[in-house]
Amino acid sequence: MASVSAELKGKYVLVINAGSSSFKTQILACENEKPILAVLAERIGSDNGKLIFKINPDTDKEEKHAFDVHYPTHGDGIRDMMKRIVDMGILPNFDSIVASGHRVLLGGPYYAECKVDATVKQVIRDYIPLGPLHNPANLACIEVIEEILPGVPAVAVFDTGFHTTMPAYAYTYGISKEFSEKYHLRRYGFHGISHKYVSKTAAKYLGKETFTGICCHLGNGCSITAIKDGKCVDTTMGLTPLEGLLMGTRCGDIDASLPLFLMEQEGLTPTQMSDVLNKQSGLKALTGSNDMRDVEAMIAKGDENAILANNIFNYRVIKYIGAYLSVLGYDIDGILFTGGIGENAPVTRAPICQAFANLGLEIDDELNKVRSGEPREITKKGSKIKALVVPTNEELEIMQTTLKILGY
Ligand code: ADP
Repeated sequence: MASVSAELKGKYVLVINAGSSSFKTQILACENEKPILAVLAERIGSDNGKLIFKINPDTDKEEKHAFDVHYPTHGDGIRDMMKRIVDMGILPNFDSIVASGHRVLLGGPYYAECKVDATVKQVIRDYIPLGPLHNPANLACIEVIEEILPGVPAVAVFDTGFHTTMPAYAYTYGISKEFSEKYHLRRYGFHGISHKYVSKTAAKYLGKETFTGICCHLGNGCSITAIKDGKCVDTTMGLTPLEGLLMGTRCGDIDASLPLFLMEQEGLTPTQMSDVLNKQSGLKALTGSNDMRDVEAMIAKGDENAILANNIFNYRVIKYIGAYLSVLGYDIDGILFTGGIGENAPVTRAPICQAFANLGLEIDDELNKVRSGEPREITKKGSKIKALVVPTNEELEIMQTTLKILGY
């Protein structure tokens, strides 16, 4: 951690990470980069919303408060949260907040991270057709925070940003130029904030300037990125987060003809079809649950659907790691695991790592079982290919980027 300048002593950054019907917020102290507050607002737009405040999260002074709420929009939720922060005495006022940092889903091919101004807001608006649930929520959060914190600079950190370095042959789809140019159709990739943070952390852990290797973000959403000298060269998610791996509720790679066939046969609209592919597929469709912990429990009872789903999940991860090993010329610093599954499921990591035993990846079964919030190796000393678990921290990455963009 860099030592902070005098002007940042006692100051905070507000980080907002909004999803389609939720938002996560942290207030992080500039001095130690630790959150004094973590907030989760869920089920925005429905009657049974929840707001959870964790004061001093993950410390022995953690205090949890849960509220039943009804937020018609993200903006309503942000306003209410900010009022409670003062009412509950978490901060006396907002004078100590020097900046807000916002995760924004899609920023197109050029924007990675930048101070919010009219042009950046227009870029977020321009990409609403490709991120119809997230970009409007992200923009609403930025605009409400601008109202509540007038004069406090805001920074947009795009989830597609880390992937803007991909070469054209990795991001271009084999469709007509007319369509791709008219509608900005290409691979954008997502989870970029996480891939960037995790690969930077791995480089530091390994004592390297930059990281070259493969980063597997396996959570509810899953993606793998090939990284060369700290820059993304390919990633499994595409125009939207639907492409690539099997996920909690997304199908990942399928023949593009399949949805066309189903739409014709079942008379589904594009919105209904999108709902099937994004929300009713993946582990959920194959096992009844989108949660890998449930799938593991079903496997323990011998459930054949769960065994197949897990095999499909692992097979896709192995296939892409193999592909990216060849993309990177088999010369890598390591394979990284992060996200809810990547960080917490030794039983998923083990078979994936074992698939590369012939290339010299020697998993250490004891190290693989260790639970810790720190970056760690799970391969034996001397293993030709290293595998590491590196916990992600998107909020910290957004905070650091925000301060960097603002010149602190
Ligand atoms: P998101 O992509 O929504 O940020 P996370 O990265 O938190 O999600 O990952 C959530 C997923 O992580 C859960 O759906 C669950 O499948 C998985 N997970 C969390 N803890 C464990 C665990 N101990 N064992 C296996 N899977 C886990």
